[in-house]
Amino acid sequence: RSESSKVPVQVYNDEISDFARRRLDLLTALPPAIEAGELELYLQPQMNSTGQELVGAEILLRWHSPRFGPVPTGEVIEIAENAGLIDLLSRYIVTQAWKTMQALQERQLTITCSINLSVQNLTDSHFVPFALAGIREHAIPMNRVIFEVTETSMMHNMEAVIGSLLQIANSGCHIALDDFGTGYSSLAYLSRLPIHELKIDGCFISQMVSSQNDRGIVQNTLKLARTLNLEAVAEGVEDNNTRELLSQLSCHRQQGYLFARPMPLEKFCDWATAQHH
Ligand code: C2E
Ligand code: CA
Ligand code: CA
Ligand code: CA
Repeated sequence: RSESSKVPVQVYNDEISDFARRRLDLLTALPPAIEAGELELYLQPQMNSTGQELVGAEILLRWHSPRFGPVPTGEVIEIAENAGLIDLLSRYIVTQAWKTMQALQERQLTITCSINLSVQNLTDSHFVPFALAGIREHAIPMNRVIFEVTETSMMHNMEAVIGSLLQIANSGCHIALDDFGTGYSSLAYLSRLPIHELKIDGCFISQMVSSQNDRGIVQNTLKLARTLNLEAVAEGVEDNNTRELLSQLSCHRQQGYLFARPMPLEKFCDWATAQHH
């Protein structure tokens, strides 16, 4: 380190190439890893308004690579999006998701499942029909599937994504605006989009007990949701005070480490069963 501080330009170049090297390694390893079944879907519980009853799960991708260790999901998605691999990855994810939902159904766990989509999945006219066909094949009730799309990606690509959104809505599946409040939303768009829920970003939830500003933002988002007839979901709920406050404010659903971290299917089923006793 002391040696490298004498040659900052060299260090900078080395860091760039380390970064580029890791990216290249990861994106080269990704397709065979998908093929080999190294990528898994974890489930994180979503609770009802009071935080006492399991009503749904968000499906979150996990890659525990034998070679790279656990790769942060945000990094996997970002690389896939930028390297033209997101279609391959997302088709794998939804295919696995329907199997997961079928397994939940077989265990009488009649809950919703929320699946994250990238904006490229919506601008591609083939992806949504592929996803919806899979739901029908697995005889999963359409109204149990929620597709999550981030607010920012949606608002910036309205023309290109509206066709896919309408296909989803017409199928009976639901759409959630993810990370709500962190981007910008045109209120005119919001009232016309075929969406069913707003997912309030964790950055407003985590401090809402102590910060009057954050609490105000959450309260007003809940009011907006009510006005537009949308459900509201709070993510990043980490303590009981936050849970109680959200319950008082009648937020429809709550999700966060307070209830459980994302888990593999088997563990999730055990957790869900234990909730009943
Ligand atoms: P997101 O959709 O906003 O997901 C919420 C993230 O917050 C997840 O991180 C989740 O593990 C984490 N989280 C849950 N509860 C808490 C909490 O109480 N406190 C805190 N601090 N964090 C919490 P994760 O799993 O690392 O995913 C990161 C992002 O990667 C996701 O953000 C989503 O944008 C993307 N992603 C994950 N899975 C998929 C997928 O299957 N497809 C696509 N396209 N994107 C995905
Ligand atoms: Ca999400
Ligand atoms: Ca989110
Ligand atoms: Ca996010």
